[in-house]
This record gives sequence, structure tokens and C-alpha cells, in this order.
Amino acid sequence: MELTSNKFVQSATIALEDIQLKTALDRSTANANHGRIHAMGETTDAYSLRQQARGAKLRALSELPDLLEKMENNVTANGGHVLWAADGDEANQHIIDICRRHDCKRGVKSKSMVTEEINLVPTLKAAGIDMLETDLGEYIIQIDESHPSHIVMPIMHMTKEKVRDLFVEKLGMEPLPDPVDPVYMTKFARKTLRQKYLEADFGMSGGNFLIAETGTVVIVTNEGNGRLSTGLPPVHIAVVGIEKIVPTWEDFATLVQLLPRSATGQRMTVYCNMFNGPAQAEDGDGPDHFYLILVDNGRSDIYASEYTEALACIRCGACLNTCPVYQNVGGHSYGWVYPGPIGAVITPLLKGIENAEPLPFASSLCGACKSACPVDINIPDMLLSLRHDLESEQDPMWRVGMKAYAFGFEHPLLYEMGGKAAGVATRMISGITGKENIEQLPPPVDGWTDYRDFPTFGEQTFHDWWRKNRNE
Ligand code: SF4
Repeated sequence: MELTSNKFVQSATIALEDIQLKTALDRSTANANHGRIHAMGETTDAYSLRQQARGAKLRALSELPDLLEKMENNVTANGGHVLWAADGDEANQHIIDICRRHDCKRGVKSKSMVTEEINLVPTLKAAGIDMLETDLGEYIIQIDESHPSHIVMPIMHMTKEKVRDLFVEKLGMEPLPDPVDPVYMTKFARKTLRQKYLEADFGMSGGNFLIAETGTVVIVTNEGNGRLSTGLPPVHIAVVGIEKIVPTWEDFATLVQLLPRSATGQRMTVYCNMFNGPAQAEDGDGPDHFYLILVDNGRSDIYASEYTEALACIRCGACLNTCPVYQNVGGHSYGWVYPGPIGAVITPLLKGIENAEPLPFASSLCGACKSACPVDINIPDMLLSLRHDLESEQDPMWRVGMKAYAFGFEHPLLYEMGGKAAGVATRMISGITGKENIEQLPPPVDGWTDYRDFPTFGEQTFHDWWRKNRNE
């Protein structure tokens, strides 16, 4: 996927005018937030559970090198193969080599963000290997020749009406009358996909968790496509980022209570598949060959930086759903694989801050992301640190303005005088225009009124009110 994060402002401006996108985002984010709040409310002590999950992930990160070695030893002892990939090119080359070794030409894949990150499907296609996405959302993305806009719900940007039109155009589905029936469309897609599992030479998956103590890869899914993609073909290749490791099943048991609740508002996903290696002699089915590719692709650099905590992310998507910026501009505006608040942190870290400069500013710093995060990642603090890292790159005028702003906030008298002056100015503009609020501020602050009005300040400032009413 081409990186266009530096065009965030332009992309977001276009997205804000897209009524269909707004309709899709309003429906989906509202449902997702409602589900999460309800499902988290069912736990006896959601805050303690989140802190326990945070502890598990941070402990895993503190032992990362040892745990990865343990994982490798256990997968190998189980009869699987572990390959290490420093970057996306190396990961893709491993996969192509495995395909050539086993004469694989057609694959089926369950959902995996790391395979988006390494640009797997187009790379395989260039090598003459077909890969079919089997997660329904990813399948729709594949036939639409576009990209996911959310890390859990890839087609969050699409309405069901748009999906119907796509199925009619690309798959020859009988046109459906309104209201559109998602169940009919899902059955149609399932029928199309079923045969492909049987024809596939190899299956691929990502991994939601790696459990070091037994060398187990876990995927949590809702559609059953993960089980079919990994269990039916003779070769299974799992591609997983190194940060997905946890030491024990006990840690996994904590985290798996939170991932579905935070992602989709479910107590538990429909399927939770665990792989230790290839099928054993006593197993009735399963792949003959199992490969685990552990992908770094910039994660070691994050690990060694002040942003290590970003690697604790379990990719639930809750911070996206709750973010007022994501809710309005959607995922494509962020210009790469990981959108939303966590994307605004990890895209600059993985792709270079100079290639994603606007993203740390794509936040109101309201803190909703941290409150929603099941592992309590301090995203607002990391966004502030990234802004600080970018300070030298910023427009000198902007820097002077922000320094003046900070100076005003540090000096109460100046702050109060500034507030009074702003009050006089806003009331004057309101008097001239005859409108209660200001619809167009003058430069350099005109951007504020592009999408909302600026309120006219009242006659009495908060300081005046306080002096009058709380003088004692
Ligand atoms: S940062 Fe937290 S809320 Fe956002 S995707 Fe990761 S785990 Fe979920």
C-alpha cells in the first residue's frame, strides 16, 4: 500500500465532504462504541482487568528477546519451522521460497494486518502466486481493489448498499431490491469462497497472540474462515509481528477477555484457533507443514525508543472507534495500514516521522483513546512527544505563535488580559456581522471556522465571575 500519510490534511478535507462515508462511519463507530461499553461494563472490575492486561503486555515486552527464543524452540520442537524477517521484503521472500519448495500456486488467507503492512498479496501476485482473502471484509476490499480503513472492520467506510452494488458489478450477483439484505449477500460470498479452500495449495494467517511457553499461535475470528484457511490446505504459513508474544497461557487468558470486548463488544469471538505446529500422527486433519515467520519491520527500533509502550497494542480498534477525528475522516485519510490514534503513533515510528508529519497532529488530545484502550496505552502522551520531535520541522511562524501562546498561559495577568481582549474583539465582530457566533475568523486562525463557528465571548470572564462569587 502506497504511503500517503503526509497528505492527511488534503485527504481528510475530501473525506469530510463525503456524505456516504459519514453515514457509514456514524453507523459503525456508534455500534462499536456502544458494544464495547456494554461488554466492558459486564466485567466485575473493568479497570483492574485493563491494568492486569497492561501488566501482562509490558512484562512480555520487558522479556521480548528471551520469549521469542523460547517461542522458536517450542515451535521447532513441535515440528514447525520458524523464520525471522528483518523487514517486509525478507518476509515476502520467505513466503515465496516456501511456496516454491512445496509447489504452491494458490493460497487462501485469513485477516492479518501485518500482511497488509508488508504488501504481501501484490508481491505474491508478481511472483505468479494467487492469494485469496477469505475474511468477508477483506474479500470485499480485494474485489474492490482498495485498502482496509479499520484494523478490525476493514470495510467500515462502506455502506451495505455500496457492497451490494460491488457484488452485482464484480461477482454477477442478482441485483437486490431495497432494503438491502446483508444475510443474503454473506451467503452469496460464502458460496463463492467455499470451493476456494478446497482448491488451495497453502493457507496463511496472522496471529493475535504468540504464547511462548508452548509455542502456540492464536487467532481469534468470527467467521470460521481462519480455521478453514489454516486447517484445510497442506501448508500453513503464519506471519506475525514480534510484539504479539506473551509468556504464558495465563496472560493470554487475561488478554483474550479484553480483545473481543474492546473490538466488537463480544464476550468472546466465535472462533479461537490455536496452532502449535503441523498435524501430528494422531490428528485427524491439519496441515503437513507449518511455518511461523516472525516479522520485525521496524519494531526493534520502536522497542529501543521512548515509544516502547506502542508495542503493547493488541489491535482491537477501540481507540479508532472512539476518536472524534477518526469518526469524521475515516481510516483512508491516515494514508497507511494503521489508522486512528494508534496509527498516528506507529505510522511515523514504522515509516519515518518525515513521511507522516501531520499524523501526530491529527488528534484533539481529548484522551478518549487512552480511556478506551484495553491495555491503557498512553496515546496522547506519545502524540505529544512526536509533536515535540517534529518541532524543528515546523513553520517558524507557527513555532513563534505557539511559544507566545505558552508564554501567555504561564502568566496569569497576561492570560486574563488576552481573554478580555479576545472578548472585546469577538463581540465587535459579532456586532458588525449581526450574528451571534463568528462564522469566519481572520487569518492566521481562519482554519478554526472552516467547519464550525467560533463562539462570541461573554461580557463576564470566568475570573470576573470567580472574584465576584467566590471572593471569600
Ligand atoms: S492502542 Fe489500545 S485501543 Fe488502540 S488498537 Fe491498540 S489496544 Fe486497541
